[in-house]
Amino acid sequence: MADSIIKQYYDALGKGKLLGKKCKKCGAVTFPPTTACKKCGSNEQEWIELSGKGKLLYLSHGMAPPPNPRFAEIAPYAYGHIKLEEGVFVQAIINGVSIDPDTLKSYYERGPVDVVPDIMEVKGLNVLAFKVM
Ligand SMILES: [Zn+2]
Repeated sequence: MADSIIKQYYDALGKGKLLGKKCKKCGAVTFPPTTACKKCGSNEQEWIELSGKGKLLYLSHGMAPPPNPRFAEIAPYAYGHIKLEEGVFVQAIINGVSIDPDTLKSYYERGPVDVVPDIMEVKGLNVLAFKVM
């Protein structure tokens, strides 16, 4: 039996690769990958490797406790909205950014900045994160 989409996604992440699905009908890219195209619902999709390059559009940090206890040990962390080269929007941890108000404000004033993947391992799970170029 073939590995699940989830397993393939996380295994690739561990190797620094971002895998998504590209729809054979409408061409939309679904990331993280799921069984059906996010745009048209078709399940005729093929694997693609995303470049990982993107623009950081918005940067913040959570005052609320991390959504999963797994992230408690790395909190507090910066959190960003990223538009990947392939047109996909993702939300992820942004490494290497201080979460003090002045730093966050400076990113806001700079506008979109380039980011690249910076995959982390948190308690045995590969986690998608990015860092500013
Ligand atoms: Zn589609």
